Amino acid sequence: IGEDLKNELANELSISTPGFSVPKVKEQTFYKVGLADAVDLFRTRRVFIKDGFAYVPFKEIDVIVLNNYRTKLSKALALTARSLPSIQSDERLQPLLNHLSHSYVGPDYSVQKNTGKISLEQIDALSVKSFPLCMRQLHRALRDSHHLRHGGRMQYGLFLKGIGLTLEQALEFWKKEFIRGKVDADKFDKGYAYSIRHNYGKEGKRTDYTPYSCMKIIMSNPPGQGDYHGCPFRHSDPELLKQKLQSYKIPPSGITQVLELVKGMHFQLACQKYFELTHDVDDPGFSLNHPNQYFTESQKLLSGDRELKKELNNSGNFQQKNNGQESINSGSIPTSSNATADTELEGLEAYFTED
Ligand code: SF4
Repeated sequence: IGEDLKNELANELSISTPGFSVPKVKEQTFYKVGLADAVDLFRTRRVFIKDGFAYVPFKEIDVIVLNNYRTKLSKALALTARSLPSIQSDERLQPLLNHLSHSYVGPDYSVQKNTGKISLEQIDALSVKSFPLCMRQLHRALRDSHHLRHGGRMQYGLFLKGIGLTLEQALEFWKKEFIRGKVDADKFDKGYAYSIRHNYGKEGKRTDYTPYSCMKIIMSNPPGQGDYHGCPFRHSDPELLKQKLQSYKIPPSGITQVLELVKGMHFQLACQKYFELTHDVDDPGFSLNHPNQYFTESQKLLSGDRELKKELNNSGNFQQKNNGQESINSGSIPTSSNATADTELEGLEAYFTED
Protein backbone atom coordinates (compact mmCIF):
# COMPACT_ATOMS: atom_id res chain seq x y z
CA ILE A 1 0.00 0.00 0.00
CA GLY A 2 1.12 3.55 -0.60
CA GLU A 3 2.33 5.95 2.07
CA ASP A 4 -0.95 7.94 2.05
CA LEU A 5 -3.12 4.94 2.80
CA LYS A 6 -0.63 3.69 5.39
CA ASN A 7 -0.68 7.02 7.22
CA GLU A 8 -4.46 7.11 7.06
CA LEU A 9 -4.69 3.62 8.61
CA ALA A 10 -1.68 3.98 10.93
CA ASN A 11 -3.71 3.74 14.15
CA GLU A 12 -5.75 0.73 13.05
CA LEU A 13 -2.65 -1.03 11.72
CA SER A 14 -0.83 -0.40 14.98
CA ILE A 15 -3.71 -1.69 17.14
CA SER A 16 -4.35 -4.78 14.99
CA THR A 17 -0.79 -5.84 14.21
CA PRO A 18 1.01 -7.26 17.29
CA GLY A 19 4.34 -5.60 18.04
CA PHE A 20 3.75 -2.59 15.79
CA SER A 21 3.73 0.87 17.33
CA VAL A 22 2.58 3.78 15.11
CA PRO A 23 6.17 4.85 14.29
CA LYS A 24 7.05 1.24 13.42
CA VAL A 25 3.99 1.01 11.16
CA LYS A 26 5.30 4.06 9.30
CA GLU A 27 8.69 2.39 8.75
CA GLN A 28 7.32 -0.94 7.51
CA THR A 29 5.95 -1.94 4.14
CA PHE A 30 2.38 -3.30 4.23
CA TYR A 31 0.63 -5.38 1.59
CA LYS A 32 -3.10 -5.40 0.89
CA VAL A 33 -4.01 -9.05 0.38
CA GLY A 34 -7.35 -10.74 -0.37
CA LEU A 35 -8.80 -12.26 2.80
CA ALA A 36 -8.75 -15.80 1.39
CA ASP A 37 -4.97 -15.64 1.12
CA ALA A 38 -4.46 -14.51 4.69
CA VAL A 39 -6.68 -16.96 6.58
CA ASP A 40 -3.88 -18.13 8.89
CA LEU A 41 -2.98 -14.56 9.79
CA PHE A 42 -6.45 -13.30 10.63
CA ARG A 43 -7.36 -16.51 12.45
CA THR A 44 -4.53 -15.77 14.87
CA ARG A 45 -5.44 -12.04 14.92
CA ARG A 46 -2.13 -10.84 13.50
CA VAL A 47 -3.40 -8.48 10.81
CA PHE A 48 -5.81 -5.59 10.29
CA ILE A 49 -8.84 -6.42 8.14
CA LYS A 50 -11.04 -4.00 6.20
CA ASP A 51 -13.52 -4.43 3.34
CA GLY A 52 -12.47 -7.99 2.56
CA PHE A 53 -8.72 -7.28 2.61
CA ALA A 54 -5.99 -8.09 5.09
CA TYR A 55 -3.16 -5.58 5.61
CA VAL A 56 -0.08 -7.75 5.99
CA PRO A 57 3.28 -6.39 7.22
CA PHE A 58 6.38 -7.39 5.25
CA LYS A 59 7.66 -9.67 8.02
CA GLU A 60 4.52 -11.85 7.70
CA ILE A 61 4.44 -12.08 3.92
CA ASP A 62 6.27 -15.43 3.89
CA VAL A 63 3.13 -17.00 5.40
CA ILE A 64 1.16 -15.94 2.31
CA VAL A 65 3.86 -17.15 -0.08
CA LEU A 66 4.12 -20.49 1.71
CA ASN A 67 0.35 -21.01 1.66
CA ASN A 68 0.25 -20.26 -2.00
CA TYR A 69 3.10 -22.64 -2.70
CA ARG A 70 1.49 -25.39 -0.62
CA THR A 71 -1.82 -25.04 -2.45
CA LYS A 72 -0.17 -25.18 -5.87
CA LEU A 73 2.03 -28.11 -4.84
CA SER A 74 -0.83 -30.16 -3.49
CA LYS A 75 -2.90 -29.52 -6.64
CA ALA A 76 0.07 -30.57 -8.80
CA LEU A 77 0.64 -33.69 -6.68
CA ALA A 78 -3.00 -34.69 -6.94
CA LEU A 79 -2.87 -34.25 -10.71
CA THR A 80 0.35 -36.26 -10.96
CA ALA A 81 -1.04 -39.08 -8.83
CA ARG A 82 -4.04 -39.30 -11.14
CA SER A 83 -1.91 -39.38 -14.30
CA LEU A 84 0.85 -41.65 -13.00
CA PRO A 85 -0.70 -45.07 -13.81
CA SER A 86 -1.13 -44.21 -17.49
CA ILE A 87 2.35 -42.62 -17.75
CA GLN A 88 4.01 -45.58 -16.03
CA SER A 89 2.44 -48.03 -18.42
CA ASP A 90 4.32 -46.34 -21.28
CA GLU A 91 7.73 -48.03 -21.37
CA ARG A 92 9.28 -45.15 -23.31
CA LEU A 93 8.62 -42.78 -20.41
CA GLN A 94 9.58 -45.13 -17.58
CA PRO A 95 13.40 -44.68 -17.68
CA LEU A 96 12.92 -40.94 -18.02
CA LEU A 97 10.71 -40.84 -14.95
CA ASN A 98 13.04 -43.04 -12.92
CA HIS A 99 15.94 -40.67 -13.48
CA LEU A 100 14.00 -37.45 -13.20
CA SER A 101 14.94 -36.73 -9.60
CA HIS A 102 18.67 -37.18 -10.39
CA SER A 103 18.75 -35.35 -13.65
CA TYR A 104 20.56 -32.08 -14.22
CA VAL A 105 19.11 -29.61 -16.69
CA GLY A 106 21.49 -26.67 -16.27
CA PRO A 107 24.24 -25.55 -18.65
CA ASP A 108 26.64 -28.18 -19.97
CA TYR A 109 30.06 -27.17 -18.66
CA SER A 110 31.90 -29.49 -21.03
CA VAL A 111 31.43 -26.81 -23.68
CA GLN A 112 34.59 -24.91 -22.96
CA LYS A 113 34.40 -21.38 -24.19
CA ASN A 114 37.33 -20.61 -21.91
CA THR A 115 39.68 -23.39 -23.03
CA GLY A 116 43.32 -22.48 -22.57
CA LYS A 117 42.58 -19.26 -20.67
CA ILE A 118 43.91 -20.63 -17.39
CA SER A 119 47.54 -21.46 -16.74
CA LEU A 120 48.65 -24.28 -14.45
CA GLU A 121 50.38 -21.75 -12.20
CA GLN A 122 47.01 -20.11 -11.43
CA ILE A 123 45.38 -23.25 -10.08
CA ASP A 124 46.67 -23.02 -6.49
CA ALA A 125 45.40 -19.46 -6.11
CA LEU A 126 42.13 -20.25 -7.85
CA SER A 127 41.53 -23.28 -5.64
CA VAL A 128 41.48 -20.99 -2.60
CA LYS A 129 39.53 -18.12 -4.08
CA SER A 130 37.09 -19.64 -6.52
CA PHE A 131 36.80 -23.41 -6.14
CA PRO A 132 33.83 -24.84 -4.26
CA LEU A 133 34.71 -26.84 -1.19
CA CYS A 134 34.56 -30.20 -2.98
CA MET A 135 37.18 -29.15 -5.52
CA ARG A 136 39.29 -27.26 -3.00
CA GLN A 137 39.40 -30.46 -0.94
CA LEU A 138 40.41 -32.55 -3.96
CA HIS A 139 43.09 -30.08 -4.98
CA ARG A 140 44.56 -30.01 -1.48
CA ALA A 141 44.55 -33.81 -1.26
CA LEU A 142 46.28 -34.05 -4.63
CA ARG A 143 48.97 -31.56 -3.63
CA ASP A 144 49.49 -33.29 -0.27
CA SER A 145 49.55 -36.93 -1.32
CA HIS A 146 50.50 -36.53 -5.01
CA HIS A 147 47.76 -38.96 -5.87
CA LEU A 148 43.98 -39.23 -6.15
CA ARG A 149 41.96 -42.37 -6.54
CA HIS A 150 39.71 -42.94 -9.52
CA GLY A 151 36.59 -41.19 -8.15
CA GLY A 152 38.64 -38.12 -7.28
CA ARG A 153 40.47 -38.05 -10.61
CA MET A 154 37.15 -38.19 -12.46
CA GLN A 155 35.39 -35.53 -10.38
CA TYR A 156 38.34 -33.15 -10.25
CA GLY A 157 39.65 -33.86 -13.74
CA LEU A 158 36.31 -33.07 -15.37
CA PHE A 159 35.91 -29.95 -13.26
CA LEU A 160 39.33 -28.72 -14.40
CA LYS A 161 38.37 -29.47 -17.96
CA GLY A 162 35.21 -27.42 -17.41
CA ILE A 163 37.14 -24.40 -16.12
CA GLY A 164 39.24 -24.45 -19.25
CA LEU A 165 42.25 -26.79 -18.98
CA THR A 166 43.23 -28.20 -22.36
CA LEU A 167 44.06 -31.89 -22.71
CA GLU A 168 47.78 -31.07 -22.90
CA GLN A 169 47.56 -28.96 -19.75
CA ALA A 170 45.63 -31.68 -17.95
CA LEU A 171 48.24 -34.31 -18.86
CA GLU A 172 51.03 -32.04 -17.66
CA PHE A 173 49.18 -31.08 -14.47
CA TRP A 174 48.43 -34.65 -13.37
CA LYS A 175 51.78 -36.04 -14.42
CA LYS A 176 53.80 -33.38 -12.60
CA GLU A 177 51.92 -34.13 -9.40
CA PHE A 178 51.83 -37.92 -9.65
CA ILE A 179 55.56 -38.30 -10.34
CA ARG A 180 56.27 -36.38 -7.14
CA GLY A 181 54.67 -39.36 -5.35
CA LYS A 182 54.99 -43.09 -5.91
CA VAL A 183 54.20 -43.14 -9.64
CA ASP A 184 57.08 -42.81 -12.12
CA ALA A 185 56.71 -41.15 -15.52
CA ASP A 186 56.50 -44.44 -17.38
CA LYS A 187 53.80 -45.81 -15.09
CA PHE A 188 51.87 -42.56 -15.44
CA ASP A 189 51.97 -42.69 -19.24
CA LYS A 190 50.85 -46.31 -19.25
CA GLY A 191 48.35 -46.26 -16.40
CA TYR A 192 46.85 -42.80 -16.03
CA ALA A 193 47.29 -40.80 -19.23
CA TYR A 194 44.72 -42.99 -20.97
CA SER A 195 41.92 -42.08 -18.58
CA ILE A 196 42.71 -38.37 -18.89
CA ARG A 197 42.56 -38.59 -22.67
CA HIS A 198 39.37 -40.62 -22.18
CA ASN A 199 37.81 -37.75 -20.20
CA TYR A 200 38.52 -35.47 -23.11
CA GLY A 201 36.88 -37.88 -25.55
CA LYS A 202 40.14 -38.95 -27.18
CA GLU A 203 39.93 -42.64 -26.25
CA GLY A 204 37.34 -45.41 -26.03
CA LYS A 205 33.87 -44.40 -27.14
CA ARG A 206 35.20 -40.87 -27.72
CA THR A 207 32.50 -39.38 -25.55
CA ASP A 208 33.28 -35.83 -24.48
CA TYR A 209 32.55 -36.27 -20.78
CA THR A 210 30.62 -33.61 -18.92
CA PRO A 211 31.78 -32.20 -15.56
CA TYR A 212 29.68 -33.58 -12.72
CA SER A 213 26.76 -31.56 -11.37
CA CYS A 214 26.16 -31.16 -7.62
CA MET A 215 23.24 -33.56 -7.87
CA LYS A 216 25.42 -36.26 -9.39
CA ILE A 217 28.19 -35.71 -6.83
CA ILE A 218 25.76 -35.72 -3.92
CA MET A 219 23.61 -38.63 -5.04
CA SER A 220 26.06 -41.12 -6.53
CA ASN A 221 29.31 -42.91 -5.73
CA PRO A 222 29.82 -41.90 -2.08
CA PRO A 223 33.50 -41.69 -1.05
CA GLY A 224 35.06 -44.53 0.92
CA GLN A 225 38.17 -44.68 3.09
CA GLY A 226 41.05 -42.84 1.38
CA ASP A 227 38.75 -41.10 -1.12
CA TYR A 228 38.47 -37.33 -1.39
CA HIS A 229 35.71 -37.04 -3.95
CA GLY A 230 32.05 -36.35 -3.13
CA CYS A 231 30.46 -33.28 -1.60
CA PRO A 232 31.94 -32.28 1.78
CA PHE A 233 28.57 -30.88 2.85
CA ARG A 234 26.94 -34.24 2.18
CA HIS A 235 29.71 -36.74 2.84
CA SER A 236 31.90 -35.24 5.60
CA ASP A 237 31.32 -35.84 9.24
CA PRO A 238 29.85 -32.55 10.62
CA GLU A 239 32.67 -32.25 13.17
CA LEU A 240 35.33 -32.60 10.45
CA LEU A 241 33.44 -30.14 8.26
CA LYS A 242 33.37 -27.69 11.15
CA GLN A 243 37.13 -28.03 11.64
CA LYS A 244 37.75 -27.54 7.94
CA LEU A 245 35.64 -24.38 7.87
CA GLN A 246 37.43 -23.10 10.97
CA SER A 247 40.79 -23.69 9.30
CA TYR A 248 39.52 -21.61 6.35
CA LYS A 249 38.78 -18.78 8.80
CA ILE A 250 35.01 -18.85 8.34
CA PRO A 251 33.51 -16.88 11.27
CA PRO A 252 31.79 -19.01 13.97
CA SER A 253 28.32 -17.58 13.22
CA GLY A 254 28.79 -18.52 9.54
CA ILE A 255 29.87 -22.04 10.49
CA THR A 256 26.74 -22.42 12.61
CA GLN A 257 24.58 -21.36 9.67
CA VAL A 258 26.32 -23.79 7.32
CA LEU A 259 25.98 -26.67 9.79
CA GLU A 260 22.28 -25.89 10.32
CA LEU A 261 21.71 -26.16 6.57
CA VAL A 262 23.69 -29.41 6.43
CA LYS A 263 21.60 -30.78 9.31
CA GLY A 264 18.46 -30.02 7.31
CA MET A 265 20.08 -31.83 4.33
CA HIS A 266 20.21 -28.60 2.30
CA PHE A 267 23.69 -29.34 0.99
CA GLN A 268 23.68 -26.98 -1.97
CA LEU A 269 22.30 -24.16 0.18
CA ALA A 270 25.10 -24.85 2.67
CA CYS A 271 27.57 -24.55 -0.20
CA GLN A 272 25.93 -21.32 -1.30
CA LYS A 273 26.28 -20.00 2.23
CA TYR A 274 29.98 -20.92 2.07
CA PHE A 275 30.16 -18.91 -1.16
CA GLU A 276 28.57 -15.91 0.57
CA LEU A 277 30.96 -16.14 3.49
CA THR A 278 34.11 -16.53 1.42
CA HIS A 279 33.12 -13.79 -1.04
CA ASP A 280 31.75 -11.38 1.55
CA VAL A 281 28.33 -11.00 -0.07
CA ASP A 282 24.84 -11.20 1.43
CA ASP A 283 23.21 -12.68 -1.63
CA PRO A 284 25.24 -14.53 -4.27
CA GLY A 285 22.56 -13.82 -6.89
CA PHE A 286 22.41 -17.38 -8.27
CA SER A 287 21.08 -20.72 -7.27
CA LEU A 288 23.87 -23.28 -7.10
CA ASN A 289 23.63 -26.59 -8.89
CA HIS A 290 27.06 -27.16 -10.42
CA PRO A 291 30.66 -26.82 -9.16
CA ASN A 292 31.66 -25.15 -12.43
CA GLN A 293 28.85 -22.66 -11.97
CA TYR A 294 30.30 -21.86 -8.53
CA PHE A 295 33.66 -21.20 -10.15
CA THR A 296 32.29 -19.00 -12.92
CA GLU A 297 30.13 -17.00 -10.51
CA SER A 298 33.10 -16.55 -8.19
CA GLN A 299 35.27 -15.27 -11.01
CA LYS A 300 32.56 -12.88 -12.16
CA LEU A 301 32.16 -11.55 -8.65
CA LEU A 302 35.87 -11.25 -7.91
CA SER A 303 36.55 -9.40 -11.12
CA GLY A 304 33.61 -7.04 -10.43
CA ASP A 305 34.75 -6.75 -6.84
CA ARG A 306 38.18 -5.73 -8.00
CA GLU A 307 36.63 -2.87 -9.95
CA LEU A 308 34.64 -1.91 -6.86
CA LYS A 309 37.77 -2.02 -4.72
CA LYS A 310 39.55 0.26 -7.17
CA GLU A 311 36.67 2.72 -6.88
CA LEU A 312 36.63 2.49 -3.10
CA ASN A 313 40.37 2.89 -3.04
CA ASN A 314 40.07 6.05 -5.07
CA SER A 315 37.42 7.41 -2.75
CA GLY A 316 39.52 6.57 0.32
CA ASN A 317 37.24 3.85 1.70
CA PHE A 318 39.26 0.91 0.50
CA GLN A 319 40.89 -0.02 3.79
CA GLN A 320 37.66 -0.76 5.57
CA LYS A 321 36.25 -3.02 2.84
CA ASN A 322 39.53 -4.82 2.36
CA ASN A 323 39.81 -5.67 6.05
CA GLY A 324 36.53 -7.57 5.88
CA GLN A 325 37.77 -9.66 2.96
CA GLU A 326 41.12 -10.27 4.58
CA SER A 327 39.69 -11.94 7.64
CA ILE A 328 38.06 -14.60 5.51
CA ASN A 329 40.70 -15.20 2.90
CA SER A 330 43.88 -14.84 4.89
CA GLY A 331 43.79 -18.39 6.23
CA SER A 332 44.67 -19.97 2.95
CA ILE A 333 46.62 -17.50 0.88
CA PRO A 334 49.42 -16.00 2.95
CA THR A 335 49.21 -12.19 2.88
CA SER A 336 52.60 -12.03 1.19
CA SER A 337 51.30 -14.02 -1.74
CA ASN A 338 47.98 -12.18 -2.11
CA ALA A 339 49.50 -9.71 -4.51
CA THR A 340 50.99 -12.53 -6.57
CA ALA A 341 47.72 -14.40 -6.57
CA ASP A 342 45.86 -11.30 -7.73
CA THR A 343 48.35 -10.76 -10.52
CA GLU A 344 48.01 -14.39 -11.53
CA LEU A 345 44.25 -13.98 -11.74
CA GLU A 346 44.40 -10.77 -13.77
CA GLY A 347 43.30 -11.31 -17.31
CA LEU A 348 40.73 -13.96 -16.45
CA GLU A 349 38.14 -11.38 -15.53
CA ALA A 350 37.41 -10.29 -19.07
CA TYR A 351 36.64 -13.85 -19.86
CA PHE A 352 34.39 -14.63 -16.97
CA THR A 353 32.42 -11.43 -17.11
CA GLU A 354 31.19 -12.50 -20.55
CA ASP A 355 27.92 -14.36 -20.37
FE1 SF4 B 1 30.67 -29.21 -4.65
FE2 SF4 B 1 28.08 -28.87 -5.24
FE3 SF4 B 1 28.83 -29.93 -2.88
FE4 SF4 B 1 29.23 -27.38 -3.40
S1 SF4 B 1 27.23 -28.42 -3.23
S2 SF4 B 1 30.68 -28.75 -2.47
S3 SF4 B 1 29.71 -27.41 -5.56
S4 SF4 B 1 29.13 -30.82 -4.90
